[in-house]
Amino acid sequence: MRLLLVEDDAALAEHLSADLERQGFAVDLAGNGVDAEFKGDMQPYDVIILDLGLPKRPGLEVLKNWRQRENRVPVIILTARDAWHERVDGFKAGADDYLCKPFHVEELVARIQALIRRSHDKTGDSLQSSDLVLDEERQQVKLPDGTMFELTGTEFRLLRCFMLHPGKILSKTRLTEHVYDQDFDRDSNLIEVYVRRLRDKLGKDRIVTRRGQGYIFTENSS
Ligand code: CA
Repeated sequence: MRLLLVEDDAALAEHLSADLERQGFAVDLAGNGVDAEFKGDMQPYDVIILDLGLPKRPGLEVLKNWRQRENRVPVIILTARDAWHERVDGFKAGADDYLCKPFHVEELVARIQALIRRSHDKTGDSLQSSDLVLDEERQQVKLPDGTMFELTGTEFRLLRCFMLHPGKILSKTRLTEHVYDQDFDRDSNLIEVYVRRLRDKLGKDRIVTRRGQGYIFTENSS
């Protein structure tokens, strides 16, 4: 899952993005409204975390502009604790959720996960795809026979991406974008290595190779 974090407080942005990366998200940063608006239109982010008080262009205007261009990316706005009117304006402009500053990272992570599940029509507190259950907090997967497997950070990010898009062809480039952040030297051949590892854990038929196109995660492997 790829996030855009829009925050002009550099120290806060740095510490938040480190926390979010530990939770298995690839995080891009934008420090002003103009940069944020551009990036939000260019990349298919899973969620954007948008501070409203920004240099160059206010967050609210950025959000309105995205929605005017039919960019429906899920957006969580960051607002000041006592500014209820900001939250109302934010929802009117098309925000999906909000969080008051200061906040605990755990709450932000829980809101991001809930928003991602909602945007993929999934409900509940864990990510399920037919007979697999992904525990996002422990980064483990449970198989139909009850076996639990620990996943490495990369395996977890890759499997989450597959489980959110069952039955769809995912190219290596797309998977790479969702698994690594922009600073990583993106070698899409690594995806093959991690797909092989997931197949070893989940069974061979779960992830099907489409030559020249990418991979498909199949919901029923039996
Ligand atoms: Ca700010």
